[in-house]
Amino acid sequence: MVKSLEKLQTEFQKVTPKSFNEWNNNKKILPGGVIKGAYFSSPYPIYIEKAEGCKLFDIDGREYIDFSNHHTAMILGHSHPAVIQAVKDAVNNGLALSAPSILEGQIANEFIKRFPSIDQIRYTNSGTESSITAARMVRAITGKSKIAKFAGNYHGFNDSLEFNLAVTENVNSGSEYIKPTPAWDGMPEHGEKNIIILPMNDPETVEMIVRENQNQLAAIFFDGKPGILDIPIEFTQFLRRLTSELDILFVMDEVISFRSSHTGYQGISGVEPDISIFGKIVGGGMPVGAIGGTSKFMKILDNSGHPTGLSQSGTFAGNHVTLAAGLATMKNLTPKVYAHLDKLREQLHNGIINIFDDTNIPCKVVSKGSIVNAYITNKPITDFETIASSNQELWDRIMLSLLLRGIYARDGMGFVLSEPMREIDIQILLENLKDILDEK
Ligand code: PMP
Repeated sequence: MVKSLEKLQTEFQKVTPKSFNEWNNNKKILPGGVIKGAYFSSPYPIYIEKAEGCKLFDIDGREYIDFSNHHTAMILGHSHPAVIQAVKDAVNNGLALSAPSILEGQIANEFIKRFPSIDQIRYTNSGTESSITAARMVRAITGKSKIAKFAGNYHGFNDSLEFNLAVTENVNSGSEYIKPTPAWDGMPEHGEKNIIILPMNDPETVEMIVRENQNQLAAIFFDGKPGILDIPIEFTQFLRRLTSELDILFVMDEVISFRSSHTGYQGISGVEPDISIFGKIVGGGMPVGAIGGTSKFMKILDNSGHPTGLSQSGTFAGNHVTLAAGLATMKNLTPKVYAHLDKLREQLHNGIINIFDDTNIPCKVVSKGSIVNAYITNKPITDFETIASSNQELWDRIMLSLLLRGIYARDGMGFVLSEPMREIDIQILLENLKDILDEK
């Protein structure tokens, strides 16, 4: 049953000597040997030479099926011809244009077509920048200082929101309130005074806390985590009703969940948020973030007449290469593509369940759209406490075993599907998974 970590790490080092050397040398000049914190580093990353379709090719000459999809961003796969052509055309016109291009209106229309909740859009450089701006927007619009977010939800490395990322630790005894806990050292002192942490999928407690704080609460930020958590859409609908009733803004984080359908998670849940934030797929592989909403709220960013008191900026925000890649991606991201991804997801979801059913290892599979997560536990995955209760040590060994067999799914987001995948790719994953569970 699944090789030991030591055995797997030794095998890994044997087949990836060039990646090991690269990382080892870079440790002197890059913290942790890597240029950013988000790369999976256990035991060390593989270095990629080329990415094409759903395949990655590393510097040791190995090939992988990419179930990580650059942190979920590359839904059309790598090097999609239309996206690459759009980028080439944009680059041929210059790298940064000193003024707007006509791509701005074109990409805005792609959002407006899909989302009834959006009639204006603003671009940023990342999901994080979008959530930072959205946090300022909701405070400026409402004149209220507090924001509520859900325990475990990540909205980028935003000082206003980066609290209680893992388990809902420190529930105060005798109270339903969850103690706000900054995720990291170095966050501003007293930041927790302006944040309220809500329990996921617990409408009674959420309602009690939100009603008690309605006069200070500017907004609730929410990510439904489709494919990661198993939360009924009724919970999202309840949040919309509650926030509408109490005049609290509802911000939906669609940075990942836009993957879940042609109209995002708001389409699936039938909910129109006041403000949506985006990232990842809307930049087609280039650095990106976006904020959308109706002009009622977006006008706070309109400083073309009288200053509103809130400005959003960024040297490279909405740069035309990003817009070109994003536009080509959104145009090619048709309902047909989502239907194809849905089919592959079902195949993978059912396949994992069948494999684990034949073992004595418990497993819960959660999936939606093009994301599939498996957890080594018996418990339904309805919040981050149940995720934390799954056997991470065993799962890490399974993932490293898959990596050794050419299946790349290394950034903690589960198995992320992309358009170039076919049934055979899912089958290869499943066959390897089955073998791994039987391995000595
Ligand atoms: N929101 C969610 C739900 C995310 O998953 C992420 C990043 N994984 C972000 C926001 C931040 O986006 P970025 O990494 O582009 O800053």
